[in-house]
Amino acid sequence: MTDIETDLIKIINKNNIFKNESMSKHTSFKVGGNADYFVKVEKVEELKNLLEYAKENNVPLTILGNGTNVLVKDGGIRGIVCNIELSNYSIDRKEDGVYITVESGVALPRLANIALNESLTGLEYLSGIPGTVGGAVYMNAGAFGNEMKDVVVSSKYMDRNGNIYEIGLEDHKFEYRKSVFSGTDNIILETTIKLQPGNQDDIKLKMKENLDKRVEKQPLEYPSAGSTFKRKENIIVSKVIDECGLKGFRVGGAAISTKHAGFIINVGGATASDILAVVEHTKEVVKEKCDIDIDLEMIVLGED
Ligand SMILES: Cc1cc2nc3c(=O)[nH]c(=O)nc-3n(C[C@H](O)[C@H](O)[C@H](O)COP(=O)(O)OP(=O)(O)OC[C@H]3O[C@@H](n4cnc5c(N)ncnc54)[C@H](O)[C@@H]3O)c2cc1C
Repeated sequence: MTDIETDLIKIINKNNIFKNESMSKHTSFKVGGNADYFVKVEKVEELKNLLEYAKENNVPLTILGNGTNVLVKDGGIRGIVCNIELSNYSIDRKEDGVYITVESGVALPRLANIALNESLTGLEYLSGIPGTVGGAVYMNAGAFGNEMKDVVVSSKYMDRNGNIYEIGLEDHKFEYRKSVFSGTDNIILETTIKLQPGNQDDIKLKMKENLDKRVEKQPLEYPSAGSTFKRKENIIVSKVIDECGLKGFRVGGAAISTKHAGFIINVGGATASDILAVVEHTKEVVKEKCDIDIDLEMIVLGED
């Protein structure tokens, strides 16, 4: 047993520690090399101790939610990948609305189902996003014109020194697929969202319509990280990619979906290099033919 393992066992339940773990098991793209260590954190205290350990020993620590908006490169991730599995929630009914405080490891579809069971409206359009609450706040995830910023009231986060802070809506600095957390080391612990009482049948119907639209339009039958590129003002990027004749363009096991040109998919056995080659080619062709610069929405982690 190496030193890191011996130390990690003192901090985290040993069933939640995985050495040389393939990141293909933990990302929706189902690609990526190994993380030196992959750990699941179920308690805030564990996270605090892990951060302290990583800092003291200079071990890089990467935070991961459900891995649905990341591409891990084929060389994997050095140090520790920390999968946030904080999963509690509480509900507080007040006069002006119903407040759900939810830990960051809860998946959005689960949260949407909690809201449905409580007949609360406000999350129907976000219910099909496969990420965690933490990942969704980090990215200001959104769908069908709705974004996390429409329901978030406040969040608690931990900095790398283990200090905990709380911020209100304004301080999240939400923009399109961006928040105050983007590009920082801070770790979202929990978020309070505000919903309104609604009619359970209506909520259920909206959620179903939303999921049906996704099934109809998106290549959900293949692994992906959702929309590969960011939307641009007044430009539908997937339409531009389609008009450039790129649908079906393939490198190895990675291809631009023929169903939705905004998605790069893993058609089988893709490597991260295959996916990045499709990304580069797409960027080049779109620039050459339409003079438009397109940027990645997904986050690339790890090394070649
Ligand atoms: C089929 C499919 C459909 C999708 N549809 C949509 C859509 O409609 N709209 C949309 O916006 N997105 C969509 N996505 C992308 C993705 O689901 C969202 O961006 C989601 O919010 C990412 O959450 P995650 O937990 O998977 O984050 P991850 O992919 O695990 O991480 C994303 C980033 O968030 C950071 N992060 C995660 N948790 C925390 C935390 N607790 N504290 C601090 N940082 C954290 C990570 O470090 C990383 O930088 C889709 C993806 C797929 C595969």
